[in-house]
Formats: sequence, C-alpha cells, structure tokens
Amino acid sequence: MDDSRIEKPKLGEPYLLTPGPLSTSYAVKQAMLCDWGSWDGDFRAMTAELRQMLLEMTGDKNDILDCVPMQGSGTFVVEAMLGSLLAKDTKTLVLSNGAYGLRIAKILKILGRAHVLIDKGDYLPPRGTEVASALKADPNITHVVVVHCETSSGILNPIKEIADVVKTHGRKILIDSMSAFGAIPLDINEIDYEAIVSSANKCIEGVPGFGFIIAKKDALEAAKGNAHSLSLDVYDQWQVMNNTGQWRFTPPTHVVAAFLTALHAHKAEGSVAGRGARYAKNRDVLVKGMRALGFETLLDAQWLSPIIVTFFAPEDRAFKFDTFYQLLKEKGFIIYPGKLTIVDSFRIGCIGQLDQHVMVELCEAVGQALETMGVKSAAAPQVAINERKKLNTELETN
Ligand SMILES: *Cc1c(COP(=O)(O)O)cnc(C)c1O
Repeated sequence: MDDSRIEKPKLGEPYLLTPGPLSTSYAVKQAMLCDWGSWDGDFRAMTAELRQMLLEMTGDKNDILDCVPMQGSGTFVVEAMLGSLLAKDTKTLVLSNGAYGLRIAKILKILGRAHVLIDKGDYLPPRGTEVASALKADPNITHVVVVHCETSSGILNPIKEIADVVKTHGRKILIDSMSAFGAIPLDINEIDYEAIVSSANKCIEGVPGFGFIIAKKDALEAAKGNAHSLSLDVYDQWQVMNNTGQWRFTPPTHVVAAFLTALHAHKAEGSVAGRGARYAKNRDVLVKGMRALGFETLLDAQWLSPIIVTFFAPEDRAFKFDTFYQLLKEKGFIIYPGKLTIVDSFRIGCIGQLDQHVMVELCEAVGQALETMGVKSAAAPQVAINERKKLNTELETN
C-alpha cells in the first residue's frame, strides 16, 4: 500500500464519509482566515480565476462555454439553471432514479414549467432506448434533465448514452453533475450538454456556500428574461459578472477563497483523472473491507460509483443503525443513513479528504462496532438479496 497519506483532521474532528459537506484539508479551512471586500480587485481576480479553472475541466477548446457561480447550496443552482435556461414555452423530460431526480421534477412543478417524468424508482438507471421512445412520442419535448451520479443510491447514470440519444433527436440536455463533476469526466467534446451544475462542497473539496453553472454561451444569451426569480437569474448574474467582475449580491467571500485553494489542490492531484483515481481506490478498499466483514452492496461491482456506496443493513436483530452510527462517530467516522424505500440500508461516501488508509481504519471500526453490538453476522436479509438480484439482472439485460 502507498505509504503517503492524506493528513488527518488537525482539530480532531471526525471524518465525514458523506456526499458533501465533506472532509476538507486544513489548507482549505486556513484559506478562510482573511476578509475580502467583494468589490475589491483582489476578490474580483479570485472570482475570475475560479471560473477559468472550472472551465479548464470541460475540455472546451473552442470557447463555447462559460461558467457562472451562484450563491447558495447545490439545489439553489439546480433551480437557477432550470428557471433560467428553460423558457416558459419549453417542455422538459425529467429522468429520475432517486431523490435528486424527483427534486428536479418538483422544482419544475413549482416553476410552472411543462414537464414529463420517467421515474425508475430507487436506483434503476434511465436508458437511452426509453429516452428515445419518449422523445419520438412527444415532439413538444425540447429539453431532457438528468442526474449524473444519483447520490441517493450512488449509481452512476449512463450519461453518454443518454446525451447521444438526446442529440440524435435534436433536443437539449441539462445535467445535475453535483456529486460527480471534478472526479468523473464530463468532456464537452464527448457529451454535448447545454449546461451542467455542481457545487463547491463536493468533488472539488471546498466548503459549502455556492454552486456553479457551466453552460453554452448561446444558451446563456438565450436565457435573457426567462428567470422566475431575481436572485436566481443566471443570465443576469453572468452579465454583471462579465461586465464588473463582481457577483450581483454579497458573495460568500471566505468560501470562494477556500474553493480556490481546493481548486489548486485538485489540479496538483492530476485534475479530474487524479481525483477520480483516488476516489475509486477509496471505494475499492472500502467495498473489499466491508465484504470481508459480511456486508453486501446494493449494486454489483460494475455499477458502483467512486462517489458513495450503499450497503444493506444486516438482518441480525442486534444491529441498530443509531447505535452503529454513534459507535463509529466515537471512533472518528461519520457515515450516512440510507434512502432506499424497500430495505434498510446505509451509505458510505468515498469523496473528500480521505484515502485508502482511512478506509482500512473505517472497516476496522465497523468490525469493532459489530462486536460491541453483539452482531454475529452482517449478512443482509433475504428481501435485500432478492432486490439486489432483480436489480442487477435488470441492469445487465437493459
Ligand atoms: C448534493 C446534491 C445536490 C444539492 O444538494 P444541496 O443539499 O442543495 O447542496 C443536488 N443533486 C445531487 C445529485 C447532489 O448530490
């Protein structure tokens, strides 16, 4: 095993094995120990640099894209993208396989934008063929929205397959790449998107406080006058930022400073490829260690994302999630409850300032927690195994 390891949290705080906010480096936290004037030249240069560095990850050689940061959590940016880029006469096909896909449909409902939903339930990925049929059947559909990594289960959706179908049918695709951007390639030359969104506190490993839209400039141009909201108007934010270098309203200055430090660390690690490789290693070590303890993952190996992994809760009655959570927290690890409707589960994130050594230590702590609770077997109940079989067969034959 590689000896170099990521520095432990200096303040003794637990590792966050969650999909954001996540564990950040000390350097990222330290970058916030200064105050900036939002109108000042130094801060405007920081904003310009972060926009530029994000665009560098897209493979945009022809300068067709631009990046618009926006205050708020990730959902604010999803809502800003939808409200700004979808004109009032558009009709959108929403592809959902989890909580974040359903949230997109809910936003469109509140915005009063016409939409239809393909709901695949808890985890099954939307596939190109069904998108093609939906687009053929309804010529009024102008846009498709999809989640890149559905963080509620951890499944990586087949984004290229879907984007190609959308393009073939002459429609446009918007992508919620919140938990994937920066660790999983999203090259504009490969995947011809209209816009994507992500936020500061996911794979770039910054702290929470803003998100960003990366969109085609002609889509931003066309967004003029679409927005339902003053503060979430992407066109207006873009115009003001290009004209003055400033954010329209108070920017999260410290968060921006932390993000720039995080971006430089991301680049030094080998950008998207380097970051993705570390997360994939985290996942592999985690899954191997948990399987050795008797746990089962929801998904078969080829569908496991390097972002977050869902495990079934053991059938053993001595297993109580709340106790398990507390025992792990005492040992310095914060994990994440599951979101599946049919069976009990929990999730462990692979993103943030974590490496394979942390994953080994976590698995040791999990083993100790099982012992303390008196759990004899971590095996999943039969219903979970049946679900898993059904799901993975469907994934294969799809
Ligand atoms: C984190 C996340 C969001 C945004 O969630 P917030 O809590 O608003 O930051 C949206 N979509 C996906 C897929 C996510 O992982």
